[in-house]
Amino acid sequence: MRQEIRIGIKPKFSQKYRSGYPLIEKEAIVNLGELNEEGILVKLVDEHQRFIAKGYYGRQNKGYGWVLTQKETEPIDQHFFLRKIEQALKARQAFYNDPETTAFRVFNGEGDGVGGVTIDYFDGYYLIQWYSEGIYTFKDDVIHGLQAAPHFKGIYEKKRFDSKGKYIEDDDFVTGTRAEFPLTVLENGVRFAINLNEGAMVGLFLDQRDVRNTIKNTYAQGKTVINMFSYTGAFSVCAALGGATKTTSVDVANRSLPKTIENFQLNAIDETTQAIIVEDVFKYFKYAVRKQLKFDMVILDPPSFARTKKHTFSVTKDYKNLLKEALEITEDQGIIVASTNNSSLSMGKFKSFIDTAFKESGASYRIEEEFSLPRDFRTIKEFEEGNYLKVVFVRKV
Ligand code: SAH
Repeated sequence: MRQEIRIGIKPKFSQKYRSGYPLIEKEAIVNLGELNEEGILVKLVDEHQRFIAKGYYGRQNKGYGWVLTQKETEPIDQHFFLRKIEQALKARQAFYNDPETTAFRVFNGEGDGVGGVTIDYFDGYYLIQWYSEGIYTFKDDVIHGLQAAPHFKGIYEKKRFDSKGKYIEDDDFVTGTRAEFPLTVLENGVRFAINLNEGAMVGLFLDQRDVRNTIKNTYAQGKTVINMFSYTGAFSVCAALGGATKTTSVDVANRSLPKTIENFQLNAIDETTQAIIVEDVFKYFKYAVRKQLKFDMVILDPPSFARTKKHTFSVTKDYKNLLKEALEITEDQGIIVASTNNSSLSMGKFKSFIDTAFKESGASYRIEEEFSLPRDFRTIKEFEEGNYLKVVFVRKV
């Protein structure tokens, strides 16, 4: 039996947890000292010792664990996890049935009832990402829950928690049969190369699926497109397939060049007709301005925080200036696709950056489209910050 302890919730937080807030915050806890072992079950009680909720202790960069149930008598055992996983898989039925898409999220943490863990599907392979040592202690239960998952071939995992200041990157294979990498997956008929055993990122950010599809189907035809922070070139590939006259991909990481070529080739696009540039985007902006280069579409999807030799970029401090640089190389009537995955930034605040950037550049704009997380990235209304993705298509008019 797993140890269970009582955790006192401070009066001003108890209402929040009663209404279903799932993340157990450090500031809400009275008896922090008793949390000694990752993975123990915690019973949240108010100042009168009345039951509020049950969850587990696991330290992430945000929070001390997650609420799992508001029912006092519901056991947290193998059946609990099995049930949650079954429900989650069922909710993705439409994705499993779509022959054009073989990569999607099947379990999205608190959105599917268990915070701190996500599971993605890649053509028969299930990738579990663990966000704390605490949730990792439930590994056997989660793996058991996946045994009967559709088209099951095997399981890989990533431990995304800090262990002595370093993310653990060991062999990520767990069970089933081993995949041969790169795996080729389909997304709305587009092919992408996936590696489940090469560090934290697998080659494709599944949460941008709808954005990629929109660029391909609605915006790319006959346009010149520059993709900043292009990683493996996924946006560029979709733009090219959608009829862009030319794409330019810019990323500072050396690996982005072969990975982008690979994705173009998988889709029978001659990569020599496209530009793939390994460089700091801030340097490239200066070059493009000097050469008076202009693009019909500028895609901006930076990491929340990045440091290169010359530059530190943080979304909250620097996005406005990034937009101003982008504006200088955007054609009139052109589109800027502004994206961020920063959970601490609201859509309202993000749009205010856009508004200020255009004003300060003396340009006007019209918002054409907005995206947040796609359907497979289930979220709950009690945890708004879980819906972290914000993408805005802005037209310079
Ligand atoms: N837009 C991509 C994902 C971007 S991930 C997609 O949808 O697939 C962030 C990328 O930004 C990484 O590949 C990283 O190498 C790159 N990056 C970070 N700082 C950069 C900089 N200053 N210049 C260019 N690329 C940078």
